[in-house]
Amino acid sequence: MSDKLLAGYQRFKNGYFAENREKLRQLAEQQRPNHVLITCCDARMEPALIFDTAPGELFVVRNVANLVPPYEIEGSYHGTSAALEFAITVLEVPEIIVLGHSRCGGIRSLVMESKRLPQDTFIARWMSIVAPVASLADPETLDPNDHATFNRCEQAAVGYSLRNLMTYPWIRSRVEAGTLSLKGWHYNIFTGALKQVHDQDTISTIVEEAQD
Ligand SMILES: [Zn+2]
Repeated sequence: MSDKLLAGYQRFKNGYFAENREKLRQLAEQQRPNHVLITCCDARMEPALIFDTAPGELFVVRNVANLVPPYEIEGSYHGTSAALEFAITVLEVPEIIVLGHSRCGGIRSLVMESKRLPQDTFIARWMSIVAPVASLADPETLDPNDHATFNRCEQAAVGYSLRNLMTYPWIRSRVEAGTLSLKGWHYNIFTGALKQVHDQDTISTIVEEAQD
């Protein structure tokens, strides 16, 4: 299986790498990304392809369902928080984008299975960061092909993550000082559409829409 990757690497080394050698050597000295992009591990999400960016432009943080946990300082392992800390306090990246996507397996598992499956798995515990999103749909009656409802849940989860970002003191202080901006986007992997997701109001707005 890895032969395909190694063949691809040879094409990259002889092609892109050779053609951009000087630029890549300069980049090797220091990274200065303009955006932190928090996105899902989903294999169909390719940020550099979607946004047509080059190496060095995006500081990408990937996790299941592109979630931001709340700021916590107890002694657990916090990969996403550590990545944010480095990007914001050391690299001083001026923008964080939470990029959700359609047909997200993490959100689907939260919505469809959180009431049925054991809650002691890594995924269930991780997805509990956005547990209230599950209340936007009833798994007993929800059509598994109701993509509009899943999209709303994915967008609500982005809203939660935007709110959680503001619990990090070194993010809040920069946002309030105007040196850091936070954005939420949702990418539809089927249509290619990109939607802006609004910040803290998202949950209440979406809950209201869901009740209509
Ligand atoms: Zn996903």
